[in-house]
Amino acid sequence: MKGDIGVIGLAVMGQNLILNMNDHGFKVVAFNRTVSKVEEFLEGPAKDTNIIGATSLEDLVSKLESPRKIMLMVRAGDVVDAFINKLVPLLDKGDIIIDGGNSNYPDTNRRVAELEAKGLLFVGSGVSGGEEGARFGPSIMPGGSEAAWPVIKPIFQAISAKTAAGEPCCDWVGKNGAGHFVKMVHNGIEYGDMQLISEAYHFMKSGLELSHDEMQAILQEWNKTELDSYLVEITAEIIGYKDEDGQPLVEKILDTAGQKGTGKWTGINALDLGIPLTLITEAVFARCVSSMKEQRVEAESLFGKTIAKIDGDKKEWVDALRQALLASKIISYAQGFMLIREASEEFNWDLNYGNVALMWRGGCIIRSAFLGNIRDAYDTNPEIKFLGSDTYFKDILLSSMPAWRKVASKAMEIGLPMPTMTSALTFLDGYTTASLPANMIQAQRDYFGAHTYERIDQPRGQFFHTNWTGTGGNTASTTYDV
Ligand code: NAP
Repeated sequence: MKGDIGVIGLAVMGQNLILNMNDHGFKVVAFNRTVSKVEEFLEGPAKDTNIIGATSLEDLVSKLESPRKIMLMVRAGDVVDAFINKLVPLLDKGDIIIDGGNSNYPDTNRRVAELEAKGLLFVGSGVSGGEEGARFGPSIMPGGSEAAWPVIKPIFQAISAKTAAGEPCCDWVGKNGAGHFVKMVHNGIEYGDMQLISEAYHFMKSGLELSHDEMQAILQEWNKTELDSYLVEITAEIIGYKDEDGQPLVEKILDTAGQKGTGKWTGINALDLGIPLTLITEAVFARCVSSMKEQRVEAESLFGKTIAKIDGDKKEWVDALRQALLASKIISYAQGFMLIREASEEFNWDLNYGNVALMWRGGCIIRSAFLGNIRDAYDTNPEIKFLGSDTYFKDILLSSMPAWRKVASKAMEIGLPMPTMTSALTFLDGYTTASLPANMIQAQRDYFGAHTYERIDQPRGQFFHTNWTGTGGNTASTTYDV
């Protein structure tokens, strides 16, 4: 009997996805560039399963049922193109190549076009959930050649995570690179969530001087509230984890955060599409600041920098912090969905935003109860432009506002860096202010560069230029937005 699907790439993600597919009754053919890893896999984790190995790409292709479905779980970038180029001559019309790695969506746009021109189908699919997700149910975000979806759907939905109601955290996202775009924003949101939780930890540890046991108990409590999420849950475990000497291990970890690029791509795309994705971008920059360890050590002594302690009722502060965290998280997701909406409109992807929230509801790193509320918001109004204006989220933002302002100003006062919680508040203050000082920017632009301005007492779309100094000319610059 031939295989249902082939998987290339036997690192952590590939191996676990294959075992997951096998558990669900699919016959998988496994291949890896370093072929010895195929044998090691079959003798090791895949022993006594129905998984079969391939010794070459030709062997892999010959062992698959038609139309062939071949999933790449390899390093993103040139490696994906190299495998595609080797596979294409071996495949027949209607066969499907799926890239399950963290590819950049423009690459997926290009690959879909190139393969469809050759009569093949290409799917770029985000897969989230790390090792455990891959093994027992990841969130899967496929997009690309739509004709491939009915063929791969039974496998993808079977192996994906399920919500409490049994819905699969996997659905068709949209054409071309839509799946990888949505996965990219997912990763950006992950950067934001991680930074937000880290700021709360810093506030509790350095501002409130709470012990690790106290902080762990607080996070465990928060995890029973609207903040119920995988990342809050694992943070509580991390804070409680003791090294061999009985001290918290987290305090021995060097404070320089790494990054593999998806947060940066999210920020770059937000700038390209003109979306104020301030929180996620601050989270990326916070990792950049963290990486300047030697400079920070030097600057701390140069500036005599300290973080002052916070006075007052610690319980009250902790509750204010919880509210600040929740409100900031709402802004982060609202900004992320603004970016997804803009991309959907710009690239004609026709995305279903509620479905995106559902796909992230289980299996992935940002899984949380909160995503269920986002889905409800889009069910109520699929066209909502700013998630914060949905009644559920608006009520939380309004009721959290005093506590949020208190925490943000206290952090500023004591010298505790809080880039994401404060930028989220600043964004909301800007977004909810009908009159901003951008009239001054327009006046300055017109003064020095004759860039023109619109007037509040004239219809939109009419542009005016003033000869501010009396010595300039009356010729205006052309008007356009980038
Ligand atoms: P990885 O370390 O990103 O990639 C390892 C795989 O790529 C191996 O099969 C390796 O083959 C192959 N490879 C690397 N360089 C190659 C080359 N020059 N030519 C041919 N093959 C090459 O593995 P991973 O962590 O399992 O991730 C797989 C994909 O999923 C990546 O795109 C990753 O970004 C994405 N992803 C990872 C996670 C995670 O938590 N790790 C989560 C979601 C998505 P050899 O064994 O021969 O070196």
